Amino acid sequence: MSAEIIDGKATAKLVRDDVADGVAELVAAGGTAPGLATVLIGDDPASEVYIRNKRRACTAAGMTDLHQHLPGDADQETAAALIDRLAADPAVSGILLQLPVPVHLDPDALLARIPADKDVDGLTTANAGLLAQGRPGLRPCTPSGVMVLFDRHGVELEGAEAVVVGRSVLVGKPMAQLLLERNATVTLCHSRTRDLAEVCRRAEVLVVAAGIPGLIGPDHVRPGGTVIDVGIHREAGGLCGDVDSAVSEVAGRLTPVPGGVGPMTIAMLLANTLTAARRLQGMGER
Ligand code: ADP
Repeated sequence: MSAEIIDGKATAKLVRDDVADGVAELVAAGGTAPGLATVLIGDDPASEVYIRNKRRACTAAGMTDLHQHLPGDADQETAAALIDRLAADPAVSGILLQLPVPVHLDPDALLARIPADKDVDGLTTANAGLLAQGRPGLRPCTPSGVMVLFDRHGVELEGAEAVVVGRSVLVGKPMAQLLLERNATVTLCHSRTRDLAEVCRRAEVLVVAAGIPGLIGPDHVRPGGTVIDVGIHREAGGLCGDVDSAVSEVAGRLTPVPGGVGPMTIAMLLANTLTAARRLQGMGER
């Protein structure tokens, strides 16, 4: 038996189409098209690719691309002043600081200047706090994209055994909180977890975000379980995730790499930018 493949590309397209409809509705109702200010400092090639994809998706959804670029030797004050200007600009609905920033800069101090209501990456302390308290706020794009994959593929979360591997601020920790919010029984594993395979085998829903190629093999997976692979690694044979391909013989449903979680992250960035624009323009939730 081979696992059903959860097609993230197709699901992301549905989300992007919904966002494009929402943008058109906002404008038709007398609002302004959302503006996304991506901020790139320096010219790291991988970051340039990510930023290009985000800007393209933004304009394709009918949003305004307000991209900002600073040279790699820009100092902390210059970067801070740019973020402050974007924070004050009513045309800017969302601010996304592309990480990593050059090593001479302090990323946390820069992120802290992004107002919570424009924090479309959901990375500020304020938004992390709102999530921890189960109150509405902007949620990190990757875990909220995983939640959409569950919902659009009929994965039952209520009361389900969910295991998350990895406790990063970007993925693992907010992922666990989102699952908890939906009444899953959540276990959070990390590098000190004693018997990772044994814990993972309990999971009806397993989300892996450890950043280690092939960490999760067939012996980590409950037969028929749903496995979400957030990892992405460039290997000699092409892109691969944290989950070994042999898992497809055990799992019931599985996300591929590429074409699984990756496309959802950008789609959720657009969804967050639309949400932020609606709130900033007093147009409420849909
Ligand atoms: P991400 O890109 O998902 O944010 P990071 O590389 O920032 O990932 O974090 C990796 C996470 O994976 C950390 O929380 C770490 O504890 C967890 N991790 C690392 N190694 C293992 C391991 N062998 N087993 C389980 N979890 C691990």
